[in-house]
Amino acid sequence: MTIKILFSANNENWKRYKAPLQDALDNKSLDYELGRTITPCEVDYIIYAPSSSLQDFSPYAKLKAVLNLWAGVEGVTNNKTLKVPLARMVDSGLTDGMVEWVTGHTLRHHLGIDKHIHGQDGIWRSYVPPLAKDRIVTILGLGTLGTACGIALKRLGFNVRGWSRREKRVDGIICFYGDDQVDSSLMDADIVVLLLPDTPLTQNILNQHTLNLLKRGAFVLNPGRGPLIDDDALLAALDSGQIEHATLDVFRIEPLPQNHQYWSNNKVTVIPHKASETRPKTASQVIAMNIERAENGQELLYLVDRENGY
Ligand code: NDP
Repeated sequence: MTIKILFSANNENWKRYKAPLQDALDNKSLDYELGRTITPCEVDYIIYAPSSSLQDFSPYAKLKAVLNLWAGVEGVTNNKTLKVPLARMVDSGLTDGMVEWVTGHTLRHHLGIDKHIHGQDGIWRSYVPPLAKDRIVTILGLGTLGTACGIALKRLGFNVRGWSRREKRVDGIICFYGDDQVDSSLMDADIVVLLLPDTPLTQNILNQHTLNLLKRGAFVLNPGRGPLIDDDALLAALDSGQIEHATLDVFRIEPLPQNHQYWSNNKVTVIPHKASETRPKTASQVIAMNIERAENGQELLYLVDRENGY
């Protein structure tokens, strides 16, 4: 029987993904039909972007699984019409991109590169940054991306801490877990990196209280999700000097409205949700592997725990 795979994302993504998906599915020797228009009751799998127009899964009577194109699933995990397993995206290209983004921006702030880029004014500055081993970097969210970033930062010499929901051990990283330990993970940190999913329990995790635990003049990097930060608390902390700079890739409303205070605050770097993207070639291999697994009766990789929202 031909496996029918619906690609439910916009045109631009279809153009990027069509050929890599076909290559990856061909390599698995699957008998399949891949397209953007398949009669709903015949669809076996949906490759899905939560921003697509498909929001009601009930007509997809034969559906076996939904394979999310992105790592973040907050746009689909609460969809009550979705009754089949949902896999999130774990893609080596996406992970590599995030490691590059997080290490790059950490080094930017650690080395004080901005002082020189914006300080071409004839003043011979005497600023000497501390060594990486004397900087504490706390990563909130020690999952696929947070762990890879933590390992890379450790390799650069930073004193790395991580925080997750469940207990974890990662070589070289001081691991904290659970609500009781979030404060300890942030205490006196120089740089905090947010790589948590957006769930009811993670929203506003960076707030007035937690911002005040960081070392005075700390840096905030948010490539996770906008709702992780209490924006008013962050703006106040930037104003008071508690936070020296925030580099933000994600926001509660995207695109960030033109009149938002973040745009005009010179202690904030706004990046238009480009920290890291799913890469069609590697992501297609993951999708094909998951379809092959499902067809062989194996559990999907990277299943979303819908109760916990990630
Ligand atoms: P994972 O699911 O692998 O990791 C999530 C981490 O968050 C885990 O360590 C998990 O803990 C932890 N966590 C979740 N809830 C809590 C909680 N209540 N308390 C403490 N820790 C918690 O996700 P990824 O690493 O793949 O991705 C992380 C996020 O990065 C995505 O959800 C997405 O929002 C964002 N992202 C942003 C991109 C961008 O371009 N800006 C690109 C890709 C992803 P535990 O390990 O115990 O489960």
